[in-house]
Amino acid sequence: MVDLMSQYQKIKPAIDSAILNVIENAQFINGPEVTNFQSELENYLNVKHVIPCANGTDALQIALMALGLKPGDEVITPSFTYIATTEVMALLGLKPVFVEVDKDTFCIDPTQIEAAITSNTKAIVPVHLYGQAANMDAIMKIAKKHNLFVVEDNAQAIGSDYNHTNGSVSKTGTIGDIGCTSFFPSKNLGCYGDGGAICTNNDELAAQMRMIANHGQSKRYYHDVVGCNSRLDSIQAAVLRIKLPALDSYIDARRKVADHYDNFFAQFPQIKTPVRGKESKHVFHQYTLTLEGIDRDELNAFLATKDVPSMIYYPVPAHKQKMFSAFGSENTVLPITDWLTERVISLPIHTEMEQDQLDHICAAVKEFIEK
Ligand SMILES: *Cc1c(COP(=O)(O)O)cnc(C)c1O
Repeated sequence: MVDLMSQYQKIKPAIDSAILNVIENAQFINGPEVTNFQSELENYLNVKHVIPCANGTDALQIALMALGLKPGDEVITPSFTYIATTEVMALLGLKPVFVEVDKDTFCIDPTQIEAAITSNTKAIVPVHLYGQAANMDAIMKIAKKHNLFVVEDNAQAIGSDYNHTNGSVSKTGTIGDIGCTSFFPSKNLGCYGDGGAICTNNDELAAQMRMIANHGQSKRYYHDVVGCNSRLDSIQAAVLRIKLPALDSYIDARRKVADHYDNFFAQFPQIKTPVRGKESKHVFHQYTLTLEGIDRDELNAFLATKDVPSMIYYPVPAHKQKMFSAFGSENTVLPITDWLTERVISLPIHTEMEQDQLDHICAAVKEFIEK
């Protein structure tokens, strides 16, 4: 699905010397690489505070811990997402309230949010799935009206520009109260292990999240709140400092692959290519088709016989996971989410795709449809 080795070969000298430099200076934890990466990411995102942490799941957990919620409080979120988004809610004793997604954008449908709000609702966690932003203007409007926090799950969309209805532009992850991202190797900005970050323009939330990520420590050996231990390694920060300046070109490369797929698949009425909403620049973490009239699982199996990797993100929505059975969420009715989980398939997309690889993938899909 991704080719991290070819990408590494192109930046090898810079990466190798950056990693060696960390080892030679023996500043493995919270060294200058981490603080420099932090300010470089703040500049890139045009956000006041970036708090690096150990992974994207921790980022979400720390964000929710900082909001001062109590057990039983409800958080509105899509069910059509990676499990990390909703797992951290359960871990903190919060109740995920699953809301339907938009069939075209795969992101939470803002028109369905207000019906899910109760007196216990405290936050909305939209997910910018596959690299395209949820409708943040609509979500922020609802949040403001009902006095709710908004935490963006930006793990799949870092680098995306959001076009507000008033004409201004923000990076995704900087629009809500807090944005969370992941530097898992296959993410659009990936390191060589685990990594994550939280961002916010709110000084108080930033201070609170920094404290939580560091054992709730306010000054050395004084711990004011229950926190956790979540740090970005210096070696990972050094890798990310090399890759951050390339992020926009990586996004362009992904968008070129998506353009090629879009053009090719336009000939097949059974294939719905990703809809690109005008609200944001799709950064194509995944290139995901919706199939109507051809069997998704058969195509998936056929592609494997042609040495074409394909993946189902995600075969089981959160509300149907056993994990949430204690919440009674299997009774939640989300027909669009269920429909999508049976029909989506993601094709390989990465920064180093060659024309012959694309041609091979497209030909394999065509062969399946025409056989
Ligand atoms: C990857 C991902 C996460 C979790 O990130 P990790 O770094 O793997 O913990 C959370 N949410 C979404 C939508 C993701 O894709």
